[in-house]
Formats: sequence, structure tokens, C-alpha cells
Amino acid sequence: MKAEDLDSSWGYINYIEKIFRRDRDLARRIIDMIRSLSDRIRKDYGEDHRIKIMNFCGTHEWSIVRYGLRSLVPGNIELVAGPGCPVCVTPSYYIEKAIELSLQGTRVYTYGDVFRLRTLRPVEKSYSLEEAKALGADVRVVSSFTDAIIDASRQRRDSVFLAVGFETIAPGYSRLMISEKIPENLSILSLVKLTPPAMFYSLEILQEKPTEPPIAGVIAPGHVSTIVGAKAWTPVAENFEIPVVVAGFEPIDVLAAIAEILRRYVRREYGVYIEYERALSWHGDLGAQSAIYKTFKASDDAWRGIGFIPYSGLRIRREYKMYDALERHSIEDLKPEKWSYDLPKACRCAEVVLGKAKPIDCPLFMRACTPEKPYGPCMVSMEGACAIWARYSFQSR
Ligand code: SF4
Ligand code: SF4
Repeated sequence: MKAEDLDSSWGYINYIEKIFRRDRDLARRIIDMIRSLSDRIRKDYGEDHRIKIMNFCGTHEWSIVRYGLRSLVPGNIELVAGPGCPVCVTPSYYIEKAIELSLQGTRVYTYGDVFRLRTLRPVEKSYSLEEAKALGADVRVVSSFTDAIIDASRQRRDSVFLAVGFETIAPGYSRLMISEKIPENLSILSLVKLTPPAMFYSLEILQEKPTEPPIAGVIAPGHVSTIVGAKAWTPVAENFEIPVVVAGFEPIDVLAAIAEILRRYVRREYGVYIEYERALSWHGDLGAQSAIYKTFKASDDAWRGIGFIPYSGLRIRREYKMYDALERHSIEDLKPEKWSYDLPKACRCAEVVLGKAKPIDCPLFMRACTPEKPYGPCMVSMEGACAIWARYSFQSR
């Protein structure tokens, strides 16, 4: 493919399709490389030596399952899903508060997956915003914050947007707050979570079980890293002395990231490496980072079923409190002493998110919990590991 072919968006899509999804020769060569590195690991560490590679991001897990990548890696390498779904880890408490607001007449804007997310406790008989809407609450499903702004500008009702996501979505809110483009009747309930602290926490938890195969490396999320930069993963690489490869989302990207991790593991090297060069840089988007810093502050935040992780969430700074739904609606923010375990009985979502269990280890998987009728949070969103395994594979190792 010639460079000029990439000038149009169609050219770029075509390039991704040809190289990163359909180039069988390239895939075969990378898989051969993975196999020979796996042989080398057996030789160096012993026949029984097994290792794990953890991916953070729900979309990486999607690619691994959708394209059957687990079946392509040798048996001594296990691919483990990590915390990469913001819907899965949003505490029940905030959804309960949103239901309360919606039942009291505030218009609540939400994405479709959060709309179906079930709470632990019912609020006036509603376990989700979907159920509250059925009881007459004012809940609107939107596909972007801009949709909420447009709708809120056309009416006078007090309105709240549920901002569930990772760092990727924060700059959009920041820029709109800074440019004062948000109507007075609309505020943001910031439930934005930060990814490197969560990865750090997961690895610490996994290290506590020394009998398990070690995590030999991490595939770090590409989208998030376009904002925070590959550098954000340095503490993870250095503290755990493992390679962290920031990767794109196509099957070739994921295979290349696995090969790179194995190469570094064999050489006993650690650090942060960029596979996703076509989209991100070491420093990330400095403009976006400064907008985030201006409008948000990092705070200790609760992760559903897990508890508080230090500096893992974003809350709106006091200077922008007119946009903060916590302030506007006098919602008490969750504190460690008030947090209690918030997963439904028998749901193993927290272990799935921390890489300690696979979706198929849960006795409810595809029995009491299905994508059509999700019981636990990891079955709701397309980035949730349980939903991905349910849709594409029961056989994943
Ligand atoms: S926002 Fe993007 S990078 Fe982050 S978890 Fe979702 S798909 Fe992955
Ligand atoms: S299958 Fe359902 S109940 Fe089980 S861990 Fe996943 S989300 Fe929870």
C-alpha cells in the first residue's frame, strides 16, 4: 500500500483492514515467533513453567475472544482479562443515586449499557435506570455528551449526565466546561476512572498468590494511552519489573504485543513499549492532559466489588463546581468507611476484573446471567469480559 492511499479516511480503513485484520502471512509469522519464544521459555525455565499475560482493556479482550487468539498461543502462555470495562466497576451506590434523582424529576442522561446496569439495592422498587424509566422516571439514553447538551439546551429541567468511562472521555468534558458550552441546567456526575492505578492494584493483588503463574507482561490500552501517553505505564513496568506493551485493537496488534512481551521476558527486560505507533506517543496528548488537570482532580475511588483504589478516579474541581452533579444535587460522595461490598450474591465479577477468575468460573455464567438478562455488571457492557465470552466463546481457555 502506498503512503498516498492513506490520505483519505477510506484509505486508512482499508489499510487497517488489509494489514491488521487480514494479512494472514504476517499473522503466521508473528504466531511462529510466539511459538519459538514459548519454546525458549520452556528451555530456560523448565517444561512446567507457565506465564500469564494480562490485558487491561475490554476491547483487547474482545479481539482475543472474537478472533480466537487464545487458541493460537501455546499452552504455557495464558491470556488473562483485566479491569478494562468502566461499566463493570461503577459502584452500585452512584447508580442508586441516579435512579433516586430520576424518580424525583431530574432528567438523567446515560449510555445504553449503564441504563441496564443493575444495582445491589432497589430504589423504590427499581434496580436499574431502565426499570426506573418504566415507572415513569425521566431517563434518556444518549450516544454522547453532546446529545445531552443539545437536549438539555432545549428544555429547562434540571438534568444530570452520567459520565462513566476511563481517561479517554475526560478531555471532552473538560473542554466543554472550560469553554462554558454546558447549559446551566445540566451537570455531570463524574464517575471517570483512571486506568494505570487500577492495573497497579490488580498486579499487587495477583502477586499475593505466589502459587499462580507470574504475570510476565501487560498489554496496555491503546485509546486511553493516546490521552495519557505511554509514559503513564512506567510505574507499572518499573514496580513489577515487567514489560508493558501499549497496543492497538486489531488481531495483528494483539499478537504483536504478545510477541513483544515474550521477547522481553526471555531477555529479562522490562519497560514500556509502544506497538500502537500509528495512534499514540510517549507523552500523549498534552493539551488534553492539561484540560483534564484544570477541571478534574484525581481522587481515591471505589471500584465495584473491589473497594477503594488510591487516586483511581476523577472528580470535578471546586472551580467548576457549577457543573458538578455531586454539588448541585447535594449527593454525598462515597467514602471508604461508607463503602460496602456491592456485587449481587454469587457474582464473581470482581475476581474476573482483577484477573483472578475467568467468566466460565462463575456458576451463574450463561445460566442465571446472560447478555439478554444480565445479573452481574460484567455481563452488561460489550467491554465486560463475561459479555464478551458469552457472545463469542464458551471455549476460551
Ligand atoms: S475506553 Fe478504549 S482503551 Fe479504554 S477500556 Fe474501553 S476500549 Fe479500552
Ligand atoms: S457471569 Fe454474571 S454473575 Fe457471573 S461473574 Fe459474570 S457478571 Fe457476575
